[in-house]
Amino acid sequence: MKKFHAVLAAVLLTAALAAAGQQPAEKLKVFISVDMEGVSGLIHWDETGQGGPDYPLFRKLMTAEANAAIAGALEAGATEIVVRDAHDSARNILPDLLRPEARLIREWNGPLSMMEGVDRTFDAVVLVGYHARAGTPDAVLKHTMSLSLYDVILNGVRLPEAGWNAAIAGYFDVPVVFLSGDTAICKQVREIVGNVETVAVKEGLGKAASMVHPAKAQEMIQKGVAAALRNLKAFKPYKPIPPYKLEIVFTDENLAQRASWVPGASRTGERSVAFASSDLMDIIKYFRLARL
Ligand SMILES: [Zn+2]
Repeated sequence: MKKFHAVLAAVLLTAALAAAGQQPAEKLKVFISVDMEGVSGLIHWDETGQGGPDYPLFRKLMTAEANAAIAGALEAGATEIVVRDAHDSARNILPDLLRPEARLIREWNGPLSMMEGVDRTFDAVVLVGYHARAGTPDAVLKHTMSLSLYDVILNGVRLPEAGWNAAIAGYFDVPVVFLSGDTAICKQVREIVGNVETVAVKEGLGKAASMVHPAKAQEMIQKGVAAALRNLKAFKPYKPIPPYKLEIVFTDENLAQRASWVPGASRTGERSVAFASSDLMDIIKYFRLARL
């Protein structure tokens, strides 16, 4: 009888939580990678780095968008949150203004780069402030990893940074559930990864852009992240099929020459190299070396 009551109580509790749109209290570990070019309001390279007169304002807005994602994650029941500063120096987010519920990863280190810190223990990846791949029309500050790369192609698919980072998350069986940035990257990530909750905070008009207000953007990000995490089962890890082939097209032939020195790499054109492996981590490590 007692056991029956306990089971009934558990069933009722689960039903009540489901009705309230909440997950039952269990582990929900969220990794948030934050870039800067896709933050609302930002339009020019001067605004993205040390020395630019408006950089202090935009690093504050970048921090605010990270906080909006943290707020959304907490609303959905996140039990652990890691924020990865993933732009330029990797020292942009203002630590004292970041919400205390999250840990912050700063500075560059290993091959995971913009995803440094992610592993199998995470349940979801959230990408904030992202931008489209090099060469994309009507996209704000489009590039792929650096201004020295024109194309990064994995198993025949031209990847923006969000696609590459989704493949890293996929290596650890973690899905990308949310992305914010401009309209162009929202479209690209859905085309490559499949179902991802996206929030466009600005739309490229050639080199210019039409923006939503930063406060509105933060509200949209919070809502989007919460909605995605409440619907976690709808998202699948991005896992290209092995064997893997990476092709890199540089903007300068000297860079392609240097990238071809690594054993296993081959020069495929004046500005391009290829590297193949059945282990995605080999590909990830090679890319980190080749693009330095
Ligand atoms: Zn960046």
